[in-house]
Order: sequence, then C-alpha cells, then structure tokens
Amino acid sequence: MQDKNLIPIISQKDLEGKVKYLGKKISADYKGKNPILVGILKGSFIFLADLVRYLTIPHEVDFISVGSYGSSTQASGVVRLIKDLSVNIEGRNVVIIEDIVDTGLTLNYIRDNLLSRKPKSVSILTLLEKKQRRPQRIPIKYVGFKIPSDFVVGYGLDYDEKYRNLPYIAKLKF
Ligand code: 5GP
Repeated sequence: MQDKNLIPIISQKDLEGKVKYLGKKISADYKGKNPILVGILKGSFIFLADLVRYLTIPHEVDFISVGSYGSSTQASGVVRLIKDLSVNIEGRNVVIIEDIVDTGLTLNYIRDNLLSRKPKSVSILTLLEKKQRRPQRIPIKYVGFKIPSDFVVGYGLDYDEKYRNLPYIAKLKF
C-alpha cells in the first residue's frame, strides 16, 4: 500500500523477530501456569494472533474491549467497558496483551478491573510503548519496542478504522 502520509518505523521483519522472542519468553516464564492471554480489542488482534503461534505451552485466549470518550487520537482517560471477558479469571494467571501504551490510562483501568476479580496474577505485555511520562505508574512486564510519542498505525493499529492491515508499523503524518 503506497501512502505518502505513512513513514515506516518498524519493519515486518523486525516485528516478526520481536513477536517470536516474546512468544519464547512467555512460554518460558509461564511454563506449567496455563495462562489466559487477554487481548485488548481491537488493536491487539493481529499481534495476539501472531504471538500465540510462537507459544509452546498450554494457554487460553480471551478478549476485552474498552472505549475512550475522547477523540481517536487523544486519550481522555474516561474508559467504558464495551465487551467483557467470557471466562472466569479467579485464581488464574492473566497476561494482558496490549498493542500500544501511551498515557497508560486505558491499561490502568483494565488492570484494576481484572484485579478486582481475584486472579492469581496479572502481568502486562505491550508491543509498543510511547516514551512519554505517564500520569499513572503501571508495571509493564514485557515491552516489544519503545517508540517516540508520534501517532502510529499498522499491524492492528488504526486511524479511523484504516491501516490495521499494514504488515508494518508507520508514523502517520496529519
Ligand atoms: P492510553 O490510555 O495508554 O493513553 O492509550 C491507549 C490506547 O489509545 C491504545 O490501546 C490505542 O487504542 C490508542 N492509541 C494510543 N496511541 C496510539 C497511536 O499512536 N496509534 C493508534 N492507532 N492508537 C493509539
């Protein structure tokens, strides 16, 4: 797809290498723990689909969907639950799979919400983390790439529902 507004920042090859590495790491860290991987819709669907193909341990997959009341490029911090989990996570080891962490407000809400259901553990894996300072400190156990605070698309991430199918990550020029 040719688009002069896109500046590629992470190639398909680099994404593949990182996803493979993260899959191996989760497989080692969660051996014997039968984790539930909770993907945050919609942005994480491609990342999670690729990640599980590198898992060599028993695991389950579920999804949660939240929305922000802000515009599509600015987080408002006000989060609402659109789709809940379909399984009970009490006593389970949960790994939240996020596409990108910016302010951390979305993840903070989801983490608190999941913790209230008494899981055995909750950790966070994000493919991308923006380098900006966060209003709230949340522990992120696994990070794929740290990126500057530009708006990015591709590999599941959209702008107005466009660009999710790009096989690489690109900065979007407005
Ligand atoms: P936070 O609550 O951490 O500020 O924002 C997290 C959510 O905002 C992400 O799950 C994602 O949906 C959206 N978001 C934040 N930064 C970007 C970005 O650069 N590109 C896209 N497409 N979405 C983003």
